[in-house]
Amino acid sequence: MILKSSPRKYSVLIKTIVSLHMSILARNAVLLNRMTKLSQILVSLLLIASPLFGQHRHVEVFVSNGVFKRDSTISEVLETWKSYLNSRPDSEYNNPFWNDAEKSRYMKFDLAKDIFSPNLYALMAGYKPTVMSITDEKPFYKIRTLFASADDSGFADPLAIEEVYAKREGRNFKLFNALPVNTREWSHKTIGSITYIFPPYHTFNDALAKKMSRFADSLSLITQIPSIPVDFYLADSYDELAKARGLDFQMGEGNVRLPSGHAEPDNRIIYGSGINEYYPHELVHVYFGPLYPKAHAYFSEGIATELGGSHGLSLKQLLRRGDSLLTQKPSIHFDSLLYRFDDQLDYITSATYLVGGLLCQMALDKGSWPLIRRLMKYDNSPESLFKAVDDTFGVKRQDYDLFIKQKISEYAKK
Ligand SMILES: [Zn+2]
Repeated sequence: MILKSSPRKYSVLIKTIVSLHMSILARNAVLLNRMTKLSQILVSLLLIASPLFGQHRHVEVFVSNGVFKRDSTISEVLETWKSYLNSRPDSEYNNPFWNDAEKSRYMKFDLAKDIFSPNLYALMAGYKPTVMSITDEKPFYKIRTLFASADDSGFADPLAIEEVYAKREGRNFKLFNALPVNTREWSHKTIGSITYIFPPYHTFNDALAKKMSRFADSLSLITQIPSIPVDFYLADSYDELAKARGLDFQMGEGNVRLPSGHAEPDNRIIYGSGINEYYPHELVHVYFGPLYPKAHAYFSEGIATELGGSHGLSLKQLLRRGDSLLTQKPSIHFDSLLYRFDDQLDYITSATYLVGGLLCQMALDKGSWPLIRRLMKYDNSPESLFKAVDDTFGVKRQDYDLFIKQKISEYAKK
């Protein structure tokens, strides 16, 4: 049914997804994870199904009349940016319009795009780019672009205002991330393998940073890989971090958000808003993510929750919360939750973290790290999870729900 919709409907659908995504973001950072998965799947379907979203579709770029195109340098910068927007910027490859230093430092080198799901440029068919200004900010030129859709009434419905920089390298202009430019005046402090980058108002907590460093050392031992140098960007609010990354505006700006962290293991970056120097959950993703990129979400989030808690709760606290929720809501069935996008038991408790953390804890109790490593090899499907539980704990699919409930109750009391 979706595939036969009109182009306008595609745009509306994407808009709805993003709006929903953003309004949920305002209320609940945990739910966001579920919605992200939903939007990823729906948008991926559209990408596959529609030539509108095809990788080779020409991206039209509107240029504000205020941009002084008669200036040959401004015009050159503009052409570089337009070429980039037409060079499959939503995919990762050696893009000729981006600078080499950032391409070698970051696997996903355009650091602003992944704030959206699946990413900012994949949404360009619905939210068309308008170049608003190009400003000489030596040694760079700053390019500001509005991504917006036109409402039926003619009003603009903006998704984002993105800022990127351009600088001449040799004969041509190359593009640069806003993040290093915007955080030039921020403090940089390295403790062990982690470099903290934070605004001047932030009082750095050495003790927590050292605790985080020791946790990184233990992860290095557990995973048997050398310690990973990580950049940890910290700020009081999500909006401040988004602006630092180059999104001067993003839909949902200004909404109240829970303190949260986000890891980009491929780029060896952690972003944290409203949190402190010790945020072990995201560090677990940095170490385990690249080792097991296809792991079932229950195990990738489960091990992060077992070792580093989730949203300020330890696994133990999460299990107690889950146990009391189950007595209030006996209609919850963990087997059917595996098939749902929204697997929340309440606004803060998701089955992925609760059951995933529980299964990882049980695996550690039963067979220590070799068993965890085995679990990480099950892929991300409900059938795979049932098989993992059967192989590891000898529990058949029809007994899964009861087994999980009994174990939550048992571990909550430990
Ligand atoms: Zn996580």
